[in-house]
Amino acid sequence: MKKLRLLILGSTGSVGSSTLDVVARHPDRFEVVGLTSFRRVDVLFEQCRSFKPRVAVLPTEERAARLRELLAAAGLDTEVRVGAAALTELAGAAEVDAVMASIVGAAGLPACMAAAKAGKRLLLANKEALVVGGGLFMQAVADGGATLLPIDSEHSAIFQCLPEDRSAWARRIDHIVLTASGGPFRERQHDSLHDVTPEQAVAHPNWVMGRKISVDSATMMNKALEVIEARWLFDLAPENIRVVVHPQSIIHSMVVCRDGSVLAQLGTPDMKVPIAYGLSFPERIESGAPRLDFMAMKDLSFNPPDRERFPGLYLAWDALRAPAGTTAILNAANEEAVAAFLSGTIGFTAIHSVNARTLDQLQPHLGASHTLDDLLELDARARVQAQQVMKELRT
Ligand code: NDP
Ligand code: MG
Repeated sequence: MKKLRLLILGSTGSVGSSTLDVVARHPDRFEVVGLTSFRRVDVLFEQCRSFKPRVAVLPTEERAARLRELLAAAGLDTEVRVGAAALTELAGAAEVDAVMASIVGAAGLPACMAAAKAGKRLLLANKEALVVGGGLFMQAVADGGATLLPIDSEHSAIFQCLPEDRSAWARRIDHIVLTASGGPFRERQHDSLHDVTPEQAVAHPNWVMGRKISVDSATMMNKALEVIEARWLFDLAPENIRVVVHPQSIIHSMVVCRDGSVLAQLGTPDMKVPIAYGLSFPERIESGAPRLDFMAMKDLSFNPPDRERFPGLYLAWDALRAPAGTTAILNAANEEAVAAFLSGTIGFTAIHSVNARTLDQLQPHLGASHTLDDLLELDARARVQAQQVMKELRT
């Protein structure tokens, strides 16, 4: 069997390293051709030592020089490239069959677009890229003939419940139900949320993830981004995407069919399952995830999301119904607000204020045939606006 030549964008992160865990179990199936990181040069070096990629990418000359030094000392011949343009170029390169998009944030969008246009097998964890890219992203997938495979566990669950023939999806689906754990503050009094610390916010009860998505899970903005992600992945009207809080994270999401039948995908909360499915689709391979033990399972419970505690969730449907580009503004504001919260500049509940106010204050004004540059420019404007809102909130 010809090996799948894989590029992992953001290989040093939580999803990136879980991908390498799965890949390491199947040396006969996968060849790692490229690895990239942003800050963690030492982790990237260790990954280069284990997987011997042809290329590694870092954002600055200084970090690249440090990696080159480490590689030379270890006698490794991985070529080190520099900058965002190198990511985009590699994502579309002929030597790459499949791209795992596991960079966090809108920063991953240009490389995702390049992979889509080049018709790659595109494993999408980087939900922000789709939230910002929206219809333009999906058009690039269609035009490039790419195979878009959801890695976000909820979207992988929906995808696993649907037939391989996408043209049958619309006839089959009545609506979908995305499950949400409710994060670390599911039961905390909402009027005590203003003084939670970053360390409390990133301590997720069921999943071990990067810091940004962990904060998003605590505000449920993660689920808001996932509602928007689902709108594009499955071509659904906003009202046909519903959310239920399911604290055990055993059911990863559900499709409610037109005849009332409900299809669900279950498993232990471990990203290696959706990653392995993305890597092997339409086959299934060993993921290394622990198996579900039905006898040890106590109960599966379901509750509606609390609007007072999680106001950010409800921005998703509003943003989807607003003019194109509104979801990009929401995403940019949220990235800025979460970074400010993590660095101690704003409080936890201010994240929602920043998002809601930035949405109120900025109109997208995108033309019907907007480009990637238009979206990146809108993203930049929304960040400036969000910073302005934070300044106002502090005074
Ligand atoms: P992490 O923060 O753990 O990893 C992010 C990766 O992207 C790291 O390799 C990081 O490099 C790199 N990176 C960060 N900023 C940039 C940038 N500006 N340009 C290029 N590379 C960058 O995040 P996660 O793995 O948790 O999440 C990745 C994506 O997957 C997110 O979009 C998230 O929403 C999504 N996702 C994650 C899940 C999870 O379980 N973690 C579940 C479902 C979706 P460095 O390490 O050097 O900083
Ligand atoms: Mg998810």
